[in-house]
Amino acid sequence: MFHKQIIITGAGLVGSLLAIYLRRKGYSVSIYERRGDMRKEAVEAGRSINLALSDRGIKALREVGIADAVLEIAIPMHGRHLHQPDGTHAFQPYGKEGQYINSVSRRELNCTLMDLAEREGVVLNFGHACTGVDWKTNTISFAAQGSAETRQFDLLFGADGAYSATRLAHMLQHQKFEYQQHYIDCGYKELSIPAGPGGSFLLEKNALHIWPRGNYMLIALPNLDGTFTGTLFFPFEGETSFEKLTTKEAVTDFFARTFPDVVPLVPDLEDQFFRNPTASLVTVKCFPWVREDKFSLIGDAAHAIVPFFGQGMNAGFEDCSVLAGLVEQHGEDWGTILQQFQELRKPDADAIADLAVNNFTEMRSRTADPKFLLQKKIEAW
Ligand code: FAD
Repeated sequence: MFHKQIIITGAGLVGSLLAIYLRRKGYSVSIYERRGDMRKEAVEAGRSINLALSDRGIKALREVGIADAVLEIAIPMHGRHLHQPDGTHAFQPYGKEGQYINSVSRRELNCTLMDLAEREGVVLNFGHACTGVDWKTNTISFAAQGSAETRQFDLLFGADGAYSATRLAHMLQHQKFEYQQHYIDCGYKELSIPAGPGGSFLLEKNALHIWPRGNYMLIALPNLDGTFTGTLFFPFEGETSFEKLTTKEAVTDFFARTFPDVVPLVPDLEDQFFRNPTASLVTVKCFPWVREDKFSLIGDAAHAIVPFFGQGMNAGFEDCSVLAGLVEQHGEDWGTILQQFQELRKPDADAIADLAVNNFTEMRSRTADPKFLLQKKIEAW
C-alpha cells in the first residue's frame, strides 16, 4: 500500500475508470464530483445518451475486468446504414468481417464504473464542484452545498471534462500554458426514436444510422429497450439552421422535406425539438497537461474532441490504460510517470482531434455521394 492521497475531480467515465486503476495500484483515492449521484437521483442531463465503444475503450475495460459485463449491455453495430433523401438506403460494413463497434448507454456505463470504483474502496464525494487549486500548499477547494471546503492532496488528476475547472486552475498559475479551443459551426440536438410494438426496433438494430445531407446530418444509435437515440448535427446560423427552425410548422416542414422516412418514426418530433437543448461542439487542445509530480489532466479535460470519430471516451479510457502501464514501469516515480504520460498521449490526442473534425465532412456529405457507397471498407462512425 502506497501512502499518497490521490484526488480526482470528476466522476465521469474517465475519472471513475482512472480511480479503479489507481486504487488497484494500492493508492488511497477520492473522487470529487460536481453533480449528484446519478445512481440514486436524476441528475441534470449530460452529453449524448449513448456512445460508440470501440477496441481502445474495450481494452481498458478488459484490464479492469468489466469488459464482458459492459458488452452484455451493449449493442454491436456492424456498419453504417445510410439513408438517402429519396428513401433508398444502403449498408456499409465497418472494417473486416466480424469487426464492429458497440452502442452503450452512457449512464449505465458510468454507473457500472462508479459501482466498481466504490467496491474497490474509492471514496466518492458528490455535490462537490472544484473551484480552485493552491499549487504551493497542494490543496484543492470545492463549493459543496453552499459552503466552501478544502482538501489536501499528494497527487491530483483533473478528469472534470471539456470545461475543466482544474485545467483553469492549472492554466491561471502557469507561465507558458498553451490553450486552444475551437467550436465548429454546427451544434447538436438529441431526438429519441421510440421502440415499436413489444420493444421491437423500428430501424435495423445492429447499425449506426446516418442521414447525410451535405452540410448537416442526422445519426441514430440503438438502445437495449428498442429505442434509438437520434442526434441532429446542424448549423447554428444560415439559410438552413437552428435559428430558422423557430416554429412547429417550420420543423414539420423541414423534416418532411429532408428526413421523410424519419417523420413517421417520431410522433412527438416537434415537442422533442423544442424541449431538448441545442448544445455546441468544441475541440480543446492544451499543453502541458502535467505539473511536476503532483498533477495531470486526463480525458476530455486534457483533450476534448468533436464526436465524429466516436473516440472521445475511448481515447480517455486509453489514457487510463497508458497511465497504469507507466505506473507498472516506474513505481512511485510520479515525475517520470506524468512526464512520459503527456509525451505519449499528446500527439495521439492531437491526431484524433483533427481526424474527428475531418470525419464530420465525410459523414455529412461524402457518405451522400453514390460513389462512396461502392467503397467496401470504412473504419470510423
Ligand atoms: P465527462 O464525461 O465530461 O465527465 C466529467 C465529469 O466531471 C462530469 O461528471 C462532470 O459533472 C464533472 N465535473 C465538471 N466540472 C466539475 C468540477 N468543477 N468539479 C468536479 N466535477 C466536475 N466518445 C466516444 O468514445 N464515443 C462516442 O460515440 C461519443 N459520442 C459522443 C457524442 C456527443 C454528442 C458528444 C458531445 C460526445 C461524445 N463522445 C463520444 C465523447 C465523450 O462523451 C467524452 O469524450 C467523454 O464523456 C469524456 O469523459 P470524461 O470523464 O473525460 O469527461
